[in-house]
Amino acid sequence: VEVPDEQRLVEWLDEICRDVYQRVESLDGGELASYIPELANVDPDRFAIATVTVNGESALTGDHAQLFTIQSISKLLLYGMALETHGRERVMRRAGVAPTGDPFNAIELDEKLHRAPNPMVNSGAIAITDMVEGRDLAERTDNVLSLFERYLGRRPDVDQAVCASEHASGHRNRAIGYLLLDQGIVDDRVAETLDLYFLQCSILVTAADLALIGATIANNGVHPITGDQIVGPKVARDMLTVALTCGMYDYAGEWAYTVGIPAKSGVGGGLVGMLPGVGGLAVYSPRLDEHGNSVRGIRVFEKLSRDFDLHVFDPE
Ligand code: GLU
Repeated sequence: VEVPDEQRLVEWLDEICRDVYQRVESLDGGELASYIPELANVDPDRFAIATVTVNGESALTGDHAQLFTIQSISKLLLYGMALETHGRERVMRRAGVAPTGDPFNAIELDEKLHRAPNPMVNSGAIAITDMVEGRDLAERTDNVLSLFERYLGRRPDVDQAVCASEHASGHRNRAIGYLLLDQGIVDDRVAETLDLYFLQCSILVTAADLALIGATIANNGVHPITGDQIVGPKVARDMLTVALTCGMYDYAGEWAYTVGIPAKSGVGGGLVGMLPGVGGLAVYSPRLDEHGNSVRGIRVFEKLSRDFDLHVFDPE
């Protein structure tokens, strides 16, 4: 594929996004997440594709300004923050980097190594959220929202209805939290940490926001518009690696094999992929497949990866 020069790049991206949008729009398979009742309260037909390059240029198609809850994609950002604040060694004591092939909410720990398998499943994510610093929930919430502010360029809102719904139905996550406490992986402010976890999942973003997040991570952690170094290059590399191996729930292995783009999805219907040195690509479409990934999101990435040789291991 011949990539055009700077000037025509945005037009070219726009065309590509529009084209794939039209091809994928007719897909209406999949179901809204409903295990958290409030998540089923969205328009299932919403669809957006967004790209942001590492130079900060963007191409946005469809409902790119529609807000939705970030859900598990927050796990990637908090993982970056934990690595940045506490360093690899301390983070690795809580969550390893082994893909599990199990569903995101499996109640499991690596019994031998005494830690969560990886930071993208709930056990690891809750262990990582526990590392957010602050004296109380308000201060820790502020730290999380400030992190998002650096990526998004605005302070995000929290969907309070979703957050309350997460809280009311989050028994499984509570079980995981208390298992982590029992194992001494987190300390005894676990109830507060779970509240923070429910909150981080309920942060409202758009597809354009996700593409910007992806572009930042793909740009060695440097925000393409503000120039802010949000995470160091080594941390960005760790985030990309974990996204590639663990970012797509129990579909991660197949995803790495067929699509080959470091990515993270959430049950709100968001999906963000990082093309190192190139940019971020995001899709929003809330109907999910049996793994919890956006049906259209998967299809968009499959098509683009195939048509433009975007697999990270594609031969030159
Ligand atoms: N709020 C969700 C949970 O932990 C996050 C789910 C997700 O996006 O995978 O139950």
